[in-house]
Formats: sequence, structure tokens, C-alpha cells
Amino acid sequence: MNYEGLIIRPPSEAYSLLLQVTVGCSHNRCTFCPTYKDKPFRIKSFAEIVTDIDEASRYSRAQRVFLCDGDALIIPQERLIEILLEIKTKMPQVERIATYANAKSILKKTPEQLQDLHRHGLSMIYLGIESGNNEVLQAIQKGGDFDKIVSAGKRAKVAGFTLSVAVLLGIGGNERSIPHALDTAKILSAIDPDFVGALTLMVVPETPLHEELLQGRFSLPNTFGLLHELELMIAHSHFTSCFFTANHASNYLPIRARLPHEKEKVLKLIRSVIAQRDKTVLRHETMRAL
Ligand code: SF4
Repeated sequence: MNYEGLIIRPPSEAYSLLLQVTVGCSHNRCTFCPTYKDKPFRIKSFAEIVTDIDEASRYSRAQRVFLCDGDALIIPQERLIEILLEIKTKMPQVERIATYANAKSILKKTPEQLQDLHRHGLSMIYLGIESGNNEVLQAIQKGGDFDKIVSAGKRAKVAGFTLSVAVLLGIGGNERSIPHALDTAKILSAIDPDFVGALTLMVVPETPLHEELLQGRFSLPNTFGLLHELELMIAHSHFTSCFFTANHASNYLPIRARLPHEKEKVLKLIRSVIAQRDKTVLRHETMRAL
């Protein structure tokens, strides 16, 4: 497989074949994100992609494929359909194809186009929301506001996609910690995704956010402030049926809960850790990672 640069994938795609169809991220402006800063965005040529699919079809029995890099949904519709057909033809055992997306790339597709992609085998979308607070979204240059992100999330769900969204504890800083948590609960409730992954912000050197941190224009809530955000997000959100996780390596307190079924149980745990200021149950700082 011809991979260019660092390849990342959601934790739940650990056993998927990683097929790089774009290089980098079409947005690439989020102030906290170091992932693709060294990669000018481009869509790989069809010939490059077919070469990789051919190679994978010879050695891989993977039943899942994840389209990398940051935002494969930005690929023009006809080309994306061709890629999906190529996977289906040459790797008939594949049962699920997933990709990252952002609000802009989802909304660039009409509802009918999204349905067509779904019909052709693209079945899961990972959408980075980060926050539901408009001031935070603007400050981090997410490229979308509350309404736009809700429209995108709903459009994906209506088209039939399994939707997994990511939110970021701490991204509002101390200044906007509570509005960030409450508005994030609101946006999650409005979208009602199938999966939520809450990650905890780690400020990475050489990002614009790190510069803000150095200049004193941004500060991170402490560990228990971050857990309070998690508590507020869970307490104030309302889901039909959602698997909510905060077990990424960046998180202090690993959480996995079916919501709403396990809401009270998980809130009880978070509240007890906060009340007792019990650091023994938390992931040690040195064990945290992106
Ligand atoms: S959209 Fe995602 S990958 Fe692109 S810059 Fe923002 S966080 Fe990074």
C-alpha cells in the first residue's frame, strides 16, 4: 500500500484496511490539530487508488475498509462512487466502508448523493464536532457553527449512515468551559448520533492553540474541571440510543456507556471521582497520548 505521511484512523477501525484516497485534510485550519499540517491536501489519482485496491485484494481478507486521510467525503461524487464500486468488485468480502468527514464536506453532498453513496457501500461517517458552542467553534476555526454541524449530522443520519461524532473536553479553555460543555450536550442531543467519542484536549506544540497557551490567551481546565465537562455533557444530553465512550488514550477517566440506559450509573461514577478528588482511578499523565 502506498501511504503518504502519517496515517491516522479512529480506534474502532483498528482491524480495517486503511485505504488512503486523499492526502491530508481539505480544511486543515483547526487551531488545535497538528495531524496534517505537513501535508498539502490532494485527492489521490484514481490510478493510485486502484493500484492500492488491487494490492489489498491479493493479500487482505479485511471485512472493513477505512478511507483515509482527513476527509474522503470531499472527493467529487462520481469519483467516490467509482472508488466504492472498485472496492466492492475486487474485495467482495468487505462489509463496511467508513470515512472521516466534516460539516462542510457532508453539506456539499445533496441528500440524494449521500443516499447514493450509502447504497454503494459507504456506511459509516466519523464527524469531528469538538464543541456545540459557537464562540468556541469560531475560536478554533472549525469551519462550521452549531446550525451547520447539526444540519450535516442530521443529513448523514437521514441518508442511512451510522454516525460517530467526536467532541473535545477542554477545547473551550477555562474561559468557556461550562458553556462549551452545555452547548456540546445540546448539539449532541440535536444530532442524536449512534456513537459519541469524547476525547480530552492535549495541546500540541507548533499548533496555533499552543501559541495561544504560551501567550496566556488560552488555559486548560484542570483534571477535575475536565471531568466536570464530561459530567455536564452526559447529564444534559438526550439520546435515543447511543454508545458513549471517553476511553481514548487522552482521557483521564475511561468511560463506556450505553445511553440513556446507563446514564445514572456513569454519572454516579464521574461525580464520585470528582467529589473525592480521587486521582488513583485516573489515567496517569505520563500514560496519556493522542
Ligand atoms: S477538520 Fe479534522 S483533520 Fe482537518 S484540521 Fe480540523 S481536526 Fe484536523
